[in-house]
Amino acid sequence: MRIIACTEGSFGKIEPFSLEMITAARTAGAAGDEVVAFFAGQELEPAVANLGAADRLVAASAGSSQLIAAESYARLLADTIAAEEPGLVLVPYAANGLDVAGDLAARTGWPLVSYVNEISRDGDRLAVVAQVYGGKILAECSVPLPAILMVNPGAFAEAERRAVDPSKLQHFDATAVVAEGKVRLVGVDVPNYDSVDLTTAERIVCVGRGIGDEASIDIARGLADILGAEIAGSRPVVDSGWLPKVRQVGKSGQKVKPKLYLALGVSGAPEHLEGMSKSDLIIAVNTDPKAPIFNVAHFGATCDLFDLVANLSERLQPGR
Ligand SMILES: Cc1cc2nc3c(=O)[nH]c(=O)nc-3n(C[C@H](O)[C@H](O)[C@H](O)COP(=O)(O)OP(=O)(O)OC[C@H]3O[C@@H](n4cnc5c(N)ncnc54)[C@H](O)[C@@H]3O)c2cc1C
Repeated sequence: MRIIACTEGSFGKIEPFSLEMITAARTAGAAGDEVVAFFAGQELEPAVANLGAADRLVAASAGSSQLIAAESYARLLADTIAAEEPGLVLVPYAANGLDVAGDLAARTGWPLVSYVNEISRDGDRLAVVAQVYGGKILAECSVPLPAILMVNPGAFAEAERRAVDPSKLQHFDATAVVAEGKVRLVGVDVPNYDSVDLTTAERIVCVGRGIGDEASIDIARGLADILGAEIAGSRPVVDSGWLPKVRQVGKSGQKVKPKLYLALGVSGAPEHLEGMSKSDLIIAVNTDPKAPIFNVAHFGATCDLFDLVANLSERLQPGR
């Protein structure tokens, strides 16, 4: 069987989950299966420099100034599927992949499973474990092939980064497909990260919607100051305007790996876990014992965050 591992990258970098898709493809494959990495984007260099763990790379670009929208990515991928006839396509559960996978399922008529964490081969089918209800429940699915799986970033280890052998690279021009697209990506608005860099912070106190309101963030900020930690927030906290975008952790925020990550009133949705599950030490505080954050936490407290923060702040006062 041939397996296509979809990859993404921009601004001179390949997304780390691209390498995870190659590992996922190897996990799903049997001896003799071929793993083909697919890339469509502005710059080919990062893909060529990093995706050599796949057996081949099929890469499309429309010139260095041309961003490729998800609609065009899906069309280019559909053309590649028609040419390569794979039995399985793995798409990262990420901003681009979210749009691509549904489009592709409609084009091919193949089954699509989202939020996939585990894959194994079961004869001529796949046994897949996928998250439902924001990660509170794990669904075991038996999936006929050919199929499309949307794989959660962080679910598989990164494959080794190495350059693609030039004989294994197939490049094609995407100019015509991009020009025909109804959606054009005209620019990317990157937030100003100069004020704070959560990606290098050693300690982070992250508040979720459980914090309740903007004023209460000061209580968590007080604890963060005592701990010498940066304050961060989940997406609803940032969307509410309680913290700036540069302080958002998760899929559409920062990917962090501090020595300490204290999550206060964060449920642990897959999109949040994607940004912090590799932290060295995760401590979660949540009133709901079934909150998915406890699946990744090393220590957890099922109590009111305000009680815990007040007690901890008092005990950590200098001199105590
Ligand atoms: C494409 C896409 C991208 C996304 N990107 C991100 C992202 O980058 N980052 C992100 O965080 N989310 C992201 N999300 C949103 C994500 O799906 C969740 O909606 C979000 O993470 C939930 O935030 P939360 O945990 O703060 O809120 P909720 O899910 O509402 O959880 C609040 C938690 O607080 C607990 N709680 C309430 N009161 C207290 C209390 N007094 N003490 C202790 N615990 C309490 C509750 O039990 C609950 O578990 C994205 C979603 C999509 C579709």
